[in-house]
Amino acid sequence: MIEVTAIPAFRDNYIWALSNEHGEVVVVDPGEAQPVAEHIDQRGQRLVGILVTHHHPDHVGGVTALASRGDVPVWGPARERVPGRTVALTEGDQVTIEALDGLTLDVLDVPGHTAGHIAFYGGGMLLAGDALFAGGCGRLFEGTPAQMRASLAKLRELPPETQLYCGHEYTQANLTFAMAVEPDNEALRERYDRVAEWRAEGRYTLPSTLATELATNPFLRWDQPAVQANAATHAGNAASSPDDVFAIVRSWKDSF
Ligand code: ZN
Ligand code: FE
Repeated sequence: MIEVTAIPAFRDNYIWALSNEHGEVVVVDPGEAQPVAEHIDQRGQRLVGILVTHHHPDHVGGVTALASRGDVPVWGPARERVPGRTVALTEGDQVTIEALDGLTLDVLDVPGHTAGHIAFYGGGMLLAGDALFAGGCGRLFEGTPAQMRASLAKLRELPPETQLYCGHEYTQANLTFAMAVEPDNEALRERYDRVAEWRAEGRYTLPSTLATELATNPFLRWDQPAVQANAATHAGNAASSPDDVFAIVRSWKDSF
């Protein structure tokens, strides 16, 4: 049995820890080492691997310090500079983690937030980094809207029951924006209320599921008439292609 636990870091990052019953653990995007070291030491666990989705400091800052704790493989994107990376990955590659019952993760290229961003999919989980968030998606620091939409289109095809683990607790702010895009989306309204309750109680809003995202995340809903219409109204012109709709919604969020 693999257990997935969130290690909070910085202000709103989550470092995901995947562990087995023997206390062997793989962490995802350790932006800082100290909370990870504390987490695994308190539990008497042993770090056996590090997965990295993209090069931003809040995702790789702790890699070198943690990798020095042992002979720890560091799996990361081939097209980005990742300190301490031992295995360079691109789409089509697979990572098999023997310690985690042979968990096999497929590597997907999901450029947009950064140019070489990858995601990991396997065991019913999507480790999405800053590509897809609960209720939102990553900012376009290094990619175009068309690139990001293609990346998200790929993720949208995964099974709806897939559990989404992303890099930040941005859900409530994302859903506030989503309500502006789709004020009449009933599933969105319910999710917004639920997430507001969870945050008031200090609870994490992750993992999400792809089914929930498909129903409520405006960045996966460029083909919905309501999203198209409201994007067009916001931009003051008719949004014709899916890329246009996505681009408008993305820049709308940036200035929201
Ligand atoms: Zn990032
Ligand atoms: Fe980040």
